[in-house]
Amino acid sequence: AVARPTPARPTATHCPYCALQCGMDLTPAAAGGAPVTSAPVASAAVPVTVSPRDFPTNRGGLCQKGWTSASVLRAPDRVTTPLLRGVDGALAPATWDTALDLIATRVAAIQAEHGPGGVAVFGGGGLTNEKAYTLGKFARTVLRTPHIDYNGRFCMASAAAAGNRAFGLDRGMPFPVTDLAGADVVVLLGSNVAETMPPFVQHLARARAAGGLVVVDPRRSATARLVDDPQGGAPRAGRGGVHLQPVPGTDLVVLLALLHVVLAEGLADRDYLAARTSGFDDVARSVVAWWPERAEAVCGVPADELRRVARLLAAASPSRGGRGAYLLTGRGVEQSTQGTATVTAAINLALALGLPGRAGSGYGCLTGQGNGQGGREHGQKADQLPGYRRIDDPAARAHVAAVWGVDPATLPGPGRPAVALLASLGTDGGPRALFVHGSNLVVSAPNADRVRERLGALDLLVVCDTVPSETALLADVVLPVTQWAEEEGTMTNLEGRVIRRRRAVDAPGHVRSELWILAELARRLGSPVDFPDDPAVVFDELARASAGGPADYSGLSHARLDADEAAGGPGLFWPCPATGPARELSGPGPLERAPGPDNSRARELSGPRAGIGAPGPDNWRGQHPGTPRVFLERFATPDGRARAVVVDHVGPSDDVRPDAPVYLVTGRVLQHYQSGAQTHRVPELERLVPEPYAELHPHLGQRVGVPDGGRVRLTSARGDVVATARWTDAVRPDTVFMPFHWGGPGSVNRVTTDAVDPVSAMPEFKVCAVSVAPAESP
Ligand code: SF4
Repeated sequence: AVARPTPARPTATHCPYCALQCGMDLTPAAAGGAPVTSAPVASAAVPVTVSPRDFPTNRGGLCQKGWTSASVLRAPDRVTTPLLRGVDGALAPATWDTALDLIATRVAAIQAEHGPGGVAVFGGGGLTNEKAYTLGKFARTVLRTPHIDYNGRFCMASAAAAGNRAFGLDRGMPFPVTDLAGADVVVLLGSNVAETMPPFVQHLARARAAGGLVVVDPRRSATARLVDDPQGGAPRAGRGGVHLQPVPGTDLVVLLALLHVVLAEGLADRDYLAARTSGFDDVARSVVAWWPERAEAVCGVPADELRRVARLLAAASPSRGGRGAYLLTGRGVEQSTQGTATVTAAINLALALGLPGRAGSGYGCLTGQGNGQGGREHGQKADQLPGYRRIDDPAARAHVAAVWGVDPATLPGPGRPAVALLASLGTDGGPRALFVHGSNLVVSAPNADRVRERLGALDLLVVCDTVPSETALLADVVLPVTQWAEEEGTMTNLEGRVIRRRRAVDAPGHVRSELWILAELARRLGSPVDFPDDPAVVFDELARASAGGPADYSGLSHARLDADEAAGGPGLFWPCPATGPARELSGPGPLERAPGPDNSRARELSGPRAGIGAPGPDNWRGQHPGTPRVFLERFATPDGRARAVVVDHVGPSDDVRPDAPVYLVTGRVLQHYQSGAQTHRVPELERLVPEPYAELHPHLGQRVGVPDGGRVRLTSARGDVVATARWTDAVRPDTVFMPFHWGGPGSVNRVTTDAVDPVSAMPEFKVCAVSVAPAESP
């Protein structure tokens, strides 16, 4: 890495983990504790102080992961030099030239024998926008392979598919998170925000106080427990809302029944449906069959509770004089073979109540990964080009090819989505080499043993990572890369807010950015296409490539984002086009029209924003102000109407049966993130949750002879997993819950199914059938 002085002032950046992207300041300190003011500082050599920063999503709050995030910079086993697998089978240090020359030589040989599709690329939703963009460009112009996809396919692909289908545009939350603070009712469908993004909970305060927090989850999660406590803090009399606890895999039935009640009781917003939707009559007919008692028989939620929630929602809808309602989906309902259908049902319900595209109400997806939103916009998805364009759209291909300086005819077509891509590795006609960036596949992919087997069949596996993750340990070549506080770039959070990631410390050893690595490989592979490695320059190119697309960043740059932030603005929302009048989806109108009962929102609405005559750098005056709220005037469909789509319940692909009579659901814990590659290296977090565990209802534990604290083995049609049993009545007697943050024998994804949703190719992480039995102690 290039040494440079470390700034004396704290560096304003964002948390390395989830999509809330909480604001934080980082201050490197000298050994004596004083802030470093000069001289290069390697991140591993110096303590870094984390301070929460007031930012709309976290308002000065951080969770345990955020507070301890600086420890990730000092991982004791940080990879600091390229590693090559030697003839003895061990990984050994090598120079960059040796490693990159070897990769280029072997890629060229594989493609000479197997064609461009002989090499594949797997990206990640934690990569910066600049890295995600460059990875897609590298795959399409240097490798010319169609085979690129990323781990966002495991994250919220079904919500993205449903949003694109219904609204013509997928911006996870089409409104700022601070808008939630004004709503009477917030419905969380399969989302455990109290553990996955705790600062988010403060935005639910009003709904909780009004008794309007509705949590749909088979487990009484930390979030579900919020409904027992209307004010936060000590439990009080009264309830903050409702917890619906359906049978795993039946969330869709809950939503169909809620819509049935809304329609049967005349609670729908008929004027809105007539003016702003299409296809709703068919949907209305389709839910006639889902009266609450029938739904109860399938999903297990009492019919009276379904009626109660439907009425609660309707009373909060603006058409009935309420202050507003939101439906928000998370992985619990999205990671399903009927994930797109379930999110579509949530959207249909929201449409019936007149919520989407209305200030103070709406539907949104709570994207999980740090750059889960931006990661799906810039071209690392199998079917997309930058700007969230479809790769099979001739106009999109021509536009992006012109930015890249290539013939559109040379760009490959759509590739295979993640699960199919992984299943094809090393097979006849499948890719023989794979580049992995920002993904720990053998822990985070479903049916993980099969993935491990496919990786083992490759001729070349290259993994870019910061630490020797379980996947990196299988690689032929490991390339050490910069992380979070060691790099410049941008992220796009769960609201569609584009924010700056800034470098506070220097990377250790011989660590390099993926931008530099891909540029070097492109050069070695004889690419005529230019690959800049300066993130600001890459962003400018990304912005040009996105111009005119659904996710238009063309009015943004690092300099503009920096100037906006210096003037008090907390990031800018896309679409943010460079030129021309605000598009119909955009413009300052929505900024000023929306209600703003709380300070944070008032700041957001009236703060010093570029383009609306606010004080601040004049350079940006007159430019597009970004779009905090989309769809207020029209949806992004050709006719401007939201499409209601008929869906119905089919059930999980791997349902319970006599030899596997228990549902397994997976999820996260507060202290760990994704595959745990980062958080297992944070001592404070690892001490709190050091090992995999499985939650069992005491009735189930007694029945199968697994005591609280004993060892339990869960066996599915794919394999088995062993963990420590925890008895709790938070899970249903027919259900076991396991977090997915571990590799090895406690890796629950060795058991999960890789069956996928037919629309989005999202795997069904959230439900499969297992048998439960005692396991020997290790
Ligand atoms: Fe915030 Fe998420 Fe980081 Fe926790 S993990 S501090 S919720 S961004």
